[in-house]
Amino acid sequence: MKIKDILEKTRPVSFEFFPPRQADGIPAVLETLDELKVYSPDFVSVTYGAGGSTRAFTEEITFEAKRTAGVEVMAHLTCVGQTKEEIHGVLERLEAEGVENIIALRGDPPRGSTEFVPVEGGFQHATDLLEHVKSNFKFGVAAACYPEGHTESVDLGSDLKYVKMKVENGADFLVTQLFYDNRHYYDFVERARAGGIDVPIIPGVLPVLNSAQVRRFTALSGSEIPPELDKLLDKYADNDDSARDMGVEYATAQVRDLWDVGVPGVHFYVLNRSYSVSRILDNLTIPGHHRQD
Ligand SMILES: Cc1cc2nc3c(=O)[nH]c(=O)nc-3n(C[C@H](O)[C@H](O)[C@H](O)COP(=O)(O)OP(=O)(O)OC[C@H]3O[C@@H](n4cnc5c(N)ncnc54)[C@H](O)[C@@H]3O)c2cc1C
Repeated sequence: MKIKDILEKTRPVSFEFFPPRQADGIPAVLETLDELKVYSPDFVSVTYGAGGSTRAFTEEITFEAKRTAGVEVMAHLTCVGQTKEEIHGVLERLEAEGVENIIALRGDPPRGSTEFVPVEGGFQHATDLLEHVKSNFKFGVAAACYPEGHTESVDLGSDLKYVKMKVENGADFLVTQLFYDNRHYYDFVERARAGGIDVPIIPGVLPVLNSAQVRRFTALSGSEIPPELDKLLDKYADNDDSARDMGVEYATAQVRDLWDVGVPGVHFYVLNRSYSVSRILDNLTIPGHHRQD
């Protein structure tokens, strides 16, 4: 089923996984997915790696989730390191396996480099990939957006202009980058609506798993750490279990606020661990998404 049709019927709760480095890590990812299935996700997604064999694992986990676990899926796809023809081939494989949804992304520049350079004959931006997908396939398509602005964008206005272009090029809905202050999400939605972007904007939520990791991720994404969270990250810098429990409480409050305001859904960055998202959903008791053993 296309996620845009799910969005017409309900406010989806979804989980994002990433592919392991080695093939022997695949069963653990599927096990986590299985543990989280009791919360009835409306769809799950699997990120697309920077290159190499993890890309095949993305496809494998996506197909397994759909085929064996019977969960709706959204495959991530980026423009990194592949020609248009190669990307077209990936899309054909996804279509042949019955995948109906993708999220079209540019991808990050390779580690150590600040500029994204497409391969010869590749796509430069998510907008180009979206155009290709919409002209050649029938997938439901999502795109990324950045409440605090993308790290490479000159200003919030030009960033929003490109988000609008993603929607004009076929994105049915948007999923946000992580943020720890809901004000950034609310402000972004307000600016998007004022700018004529009318598709659902699903907040992406990353529960804190440990202090160092959140500091690393926010440094990369340019997301603000609010002062109260900053203090808690310092307090639990050397205690990962306490940091994780604090993260559950923080994300519970964050999602409760978002849900009560009426967000169109919530996308959890699971990071292949079931503990935090399970506890958060136990705390929230969202209708249709509490534990069903
Ligand atoms: C929900 C979500 C899922 C993600 N999944 C993955 C994943 O699976 N794998 C992965 O490698 N990365 C993933 N990322 C990270 C993402 O690839 C990076 O943030 C990347 O740097 C930008 O991707 P984009 O699709 O937003 O790119 P783009 O939309 O191309 O934007 C990149 C920059 O270019 C500007 N821009 C956009 N369009 C144009 C245009 N037409 N002309 C000129 N400038 C333009 C934008 O303002 C922005 O500054 C994900 C991010 C999010 C939020």
